[in-house]
Amino acid sequence: MQRRQFLATAATALAGCHEAPRTLQGGFAGIDLARGHALRDRLQSGTLPAPGVVRRAQVIVAGGGVAGLAAARSLRLAGIDDFVLLELEDQPGGNSRGGMVEGLACPLGAHYLPVPGNDAREVQDLLEELGLRQRVAGRWQYDERHLCHSPQERLYRDGEWQEGLLPVQGVGAGTLAQYRQFSALVQALGKAARFTMPVLKSLEAKRPLPPTHQALDALVFDDWLTQQGLDDAHLRWYLDYCCRDDYGAGTARVSAWAGIHYFASRHGFLAPGDDAPPGQDGVLTWPEGNGWLTQRLAAPLRAGGQLRTGCSVLRISEGRHGVEVDAYNHTTESVERWQAPRAIVALPVFVAARVVQQAPAFLREAAQRLHWAPWLVANIHIDAPLLDHPGAAPAWDNVLYQDANPGGLGYVNAGHQRLDPRAALTAPTVLSYYQALGDVPQGREQLATQPWTHWAQAALATLGGPHPDLARRATRVEVTRYGHAMSIPTPGTLGFLSKIGLQRPSGIRKQLSNGEQTRWLPTPATARLAFAHADWSGYSVFEEAFTRGHGAGLAVLA
Ligand SMILES: Cc1cc2nc3c(=O)[nH]c(=O)nc-3n(C[C@H](O)[C@H](O)[C@H](O)COP(=O)(O)OP(=O)(O)OC[C@H]3O[C@@H](n4cnc5c(N)ncnc54)[C@H](O)[C@@H]3O)c2cc1C
Repeated sequence: MQRRQFLATAATALAGCHEAPRTLQGGFAGIDLARGHALRDRLQSGTLPAPGVVRRAQVIVAGGGVAGLAAARSLRLAGIDDFVLLELEDQPGGNSRGGMVEGLACPLGAHYLPVPGNDAREVQDLLEELGLRQRVAGRWQYDERHLCHSPQERLYRDGEWQEGLLPVQGVGAGTLAQYRQFSALVQALGKAARFTMPVLKSLEAKRPLPPTHQALDALVFDDWLTQQGLDDAHLRWYLDYCCRDDYGAGTARVSAWAGIHYFASRHGFLAPGDDAPPGQDGVLTWPEGNGWLTQRLAAPLRAGGQLRTGCSVLRISEGRHGVEVDAYNHTTESVERWQAPRAIVALPVFVAARVVQQAPAFLREAAQRLHWAPWLVANIHIDAPLLDHPGAAPAWDNVLYQDANPGGLGYVNAGHQRLDPRAALTAPTVLSYYQALGDVPQGREQLATQPWTHWAQAALATLGGPHPDLARRATRVEVTRYGHAMSIPTPGTLGFLSKIGLQRPSGIRKQLSNGEQTRWLPTPATARLAFAHADWSGYSVFEEAFTRGHGAGLAVLA
């Protein structure tokens, strides 16, 4: 019997069967919200000790997410070893960290990286360095073990699973016509103006945004779709899902620029029957998600002694002769002072605006203008594969058309990349369920106040639709909360951010010790501080964070 038949038969047999769910084990994991809040309270009450020690380095990097790690890498590649990276959490990686539940690796946040296009040359270089990409017989090839195995995606709708995420099964001719119309519009807009990922590659020094981008940036995606007569419910559901998945908020909130950029900067919108352009349809993924990448970025810093985790940056002060950074060391419970000629601020914009003294106007304005989406990830350990409904076979990414949880985005299976096919049928695994709360009223307050069981039970309840035995199979659920997970590209965000960081620092074309020349990337900067974080792109993906970090490293080197 085929696996999919077996699962479907078993699911049918179980319908109406009420076995008692086991007592759920679990808790919050990944991010120490209490640490951040306690620190904020002590800062406000003035009860933090004075710095007990003063240390010096050539460069200080504040924040160890993808951007901070990329900045550190560019310093290392330029032959600079005398730097320190200060990270609040006990593990580096920020939103791209991996974790373990019951001994199995799983993502705590970001879980995949699409095969990067040529605009993301810096990311391509990293993948080459990590051995994921190599030239074979004149063509670039990616390591098959790390490209997402088939089947990649499926959608649960009306009691059945279908392949892919765009609703196609049983939809009418009107829906298909709107899919084609939207596909043609994305293609036309992509010809009218460049949509690059990372977005900073389409920003040219001192030039205004192209008119196409300006017009799209001026209104919400929903309004633009309505103007085009694109009102089909299936198309609108799919586009809303895509926006929530990448931007943390749906089509009613993000700009039309963001809605089009999602497709035009990648492989376009693929209507049924369309093929992805060659070489652009794969995604790289690992059991621990993008934690695989951040661990490798962090490894040389651990070895070189530059990584200091459990250190919260409290204050960054830029003087005429250098930068001073105070950080609270959570292990020693003391404040350390770091001094350096320059620093890279790889912190979220709202944190940077709080800790940078006499913050420059562009930073203050950005902190006021940007809006952040809260997110959560519920990692559900199951002791055996789940019963299933008929249709497409279990995939890596499994999405529900009608998700009872607001902002629910379905789950990825951390065991999907296993190379042993028998393990897929029998072994325990972890399902990482994602929920973007950017559109949920008081989403952040709910995240801060509801117990972990609230989120765990909601995830189990909604996934219990397609998997009736989930509550029996789930042994443990660990919930990771992100109060300010990513900035939402609302109307006007692109226009505002594109004006920042376009001045070319003098002497940037510097010869590096490895013989290469640094290339300029637009980076928000003051005389001694360079800012790097996905927030500066207005939306958050690996390519944006990494290229911004790399650019900040170059700006400091210059
Ligand atoms: C749930 C979720 C899923 C995602 N999925 C994907 C995905 O699949 N693919 C993808 O490409 N992107 C995904 N993203 C986007 C992800 O945010 C980016 O890929 C990237 O990780 C952002 O990196 P960053 O360095 O810009 O920011 P951050 O990850 O925010 O890094 C900032 C760092 O600064 C640290 N910090 C904060 N305050 C202080 C302080 N006071 N002192 C010292 N350190 C401090 C933080 O702990 C953190 O490590 C996802 C994001 C979330 C939240």
